[in-house]
Amino acid sequence: EKMTKGLKKTRRSFSQVFNELMANFRRVDEDFFEELEETLITADVGFETAMKITDELRQEVKLQNAKKSSDVQRVIVEKLVASYEEQEEIENNELNIKKNDLTVILFVGVNGVGKTTSIGKLANQYRLEGKKVLMAAADTFRAGAIDQLVVWGERAQVEVVRGNAGGDPAAVVFDAIEKAKEQEADILFVDTAGRLQNKVNLMKELEKIKRVIQREIPDAPHEVLLVLDATTGQNAMVQAKQFKEVTDVTGLVLTKLDGTAKGGIVLAIRNELHIPVKLVGLGEGINDLQAFKPQEYVTGLFS
Ligand code: GDP
Repeated sequence: EKMTKGLKKTRRSFSQVFNELMANFRRVDEDFFEELEETLITADVGFETAMKITDELRQEVKLQNAKKSSDVQRVIVEKLVASYEEQEEIENNELNIKKNDLTVILFVGVNGVGKTTSIGKLANQYRLEGKKVLMAAADTFRAGAIDQLVVWGERAQVEVVRGNAGGDPAAVVFDAIEKAKEQEADILFVDTAGRLQNKVNLMKELEKIKRVIQREIPDAPHEVLLVLDATTGQNAMVQAKQFKEVTDVTGLVLTKLDGTAKGGIVLAIRNELHIPVKLVGLGEGINDLQAFKPQEYVTGLFS
């Protein structure tokens, strides 16, 4: 229900555009399909997906003899969900949380996308579930990043392991793992610096952090979550591609979906990069982070 509420803005904007489109066309003809294709591209579902869906829709509308806008809309929703769920078998939306051992989750992403906020929200959720949670402030590059995580630590009532600004991120992670073991913690969230400006350095830094983690826990990190700002549309796609080159991303956190009509980016990223969206951010509040549900999401775009 929260997802539906949070998506109101996305939803309204997208359905508004769609309704205008339907109002402008008395008949579902070739001009309509061309406009629809453009509308889907504008919503950032991705060029290939837009073409594919429009093609399939042409066939389907013919087959089902769909003439009313509600019929056409139903077919579009079906197609979007189908295109999203095609790869469901090979992908897993759930976070890989160990039952009895320490789970380590790395967060990557550029500044301002909502990394710290998402970590804080997630830490709070797991704490409320009764898990012992720790956070590591391994973004030592940006002065404000550590303080920001500490603020979220207070909000989420979760301890933050921190080092000095400008210090070695891997050393902070090492300390955090020691502490997590000492306290028999369930989950450790690691905030990292996402400086894409220097890819080689970023790659080295993440590799070093991973090595330190793996020395202590061989099968960790259990997730590497890339945080992307949905309002940046195709830019988010570019970042996703770049991070994929730098490290093994296991899932995406798509933030700020409450403030954008570009919700189609979810489909584009899934279809083009094959990385599952695991969580979506729907606001600035501590409870505004949700597991991603494709059917609900796509249906929400139109209702
Ligand atoms: P970081 O630099 O990646 O750690 O980004 P922050 O966590 O500091 O977030 C940057 C800004 O985005 C802050 O003002 C957050 O409140 C805001 N923000 C984060 N997630 C969301 C979201 O899902 N919706 C909205 N509307 N704002 C968000």
